This record gives sequence, structure tokens and C-alpha cells, in this order.
Amino acid sequence: MTYPATPDPVSAAFSGRCPRCGKGELFSGYLAVHARCSECDLDLAFADSGDGPAFFVMSIVGFVAVAFVITLIAVFDVVAGLALLLGMIVTLGLTFALLKPAKGLLIGLQYKNDASEGRLQ
Ligand SMILES: [Zn+2]
Repeated sequence: MTYPATPDPVSAAFSGRCPRCGKGELFSGYLAVHARCSECDLDLAFADSGDGPAFFVMSIVGFVAVAFVITLIAVFDVVAGLALLLGMIVTLGLTFALLKPAKGLLIGLQYKNDASEGRLQ
């Protein structure tokens, strides 16, 4: 069976769907990936995003959280302890919100570009 209309990796990532058919669930838990797609039977053993999602989320959320805390202190004159507490809450919230879509996006891009680990012949 062919799937000429491969879904957009971004939309599949944010909906947590299979990168080939866009219908089956990609995740069996928060970050655990199913062994096979329930709809198109795609073997998801290739899906190894490694530390990529954590790196991108850490970089993006770190920048946003630091900017948020500095803005609270410098612009709104919030006490530093409260600003740091709010910064930690923002950091945790954004991290948990973005980690799953980031992993789905990297798996979708890995599938779309047929990327795999480099091997010497
Ligand atoms: Zn599928």
C-alpha cells in the first residue's frame, strides 16, 4: 500500500500522528513511541530522535524563560525571588508542552527525509 499524500511533518507532530499515514497514534505514552502504526503498519523502529528534542526544547525554552525573568525584573519591577519562581513555572510548562511535539517533528522529518545513522560500508 502506498501513501502518496504523506502528511506535513509539522501537523503530524503537533497531533502526535504517524509520519506516513497521519492517522495512527505515534506515541504510546508521553514520549514512548509505538512499535508499529496501528493504521498503516509502518515499523517505527527507525524512529530514534536521540537527544534532539531535548536539545531544541532546552535551547528555545531557556531563551524564553530567561527573557521572561529579565522582563519581569527590569520592566515590571517584580521581586527577584518571585520572578525566578515564575520563570521556573514557565520553564516547566513550556518544556512539557513542547517536548512531545518536538520529538514527533524530528521523527516525522527523519521519515520524510529517509534519514538514518551514518554507516561505513
Ligand atoms: Zn501510519
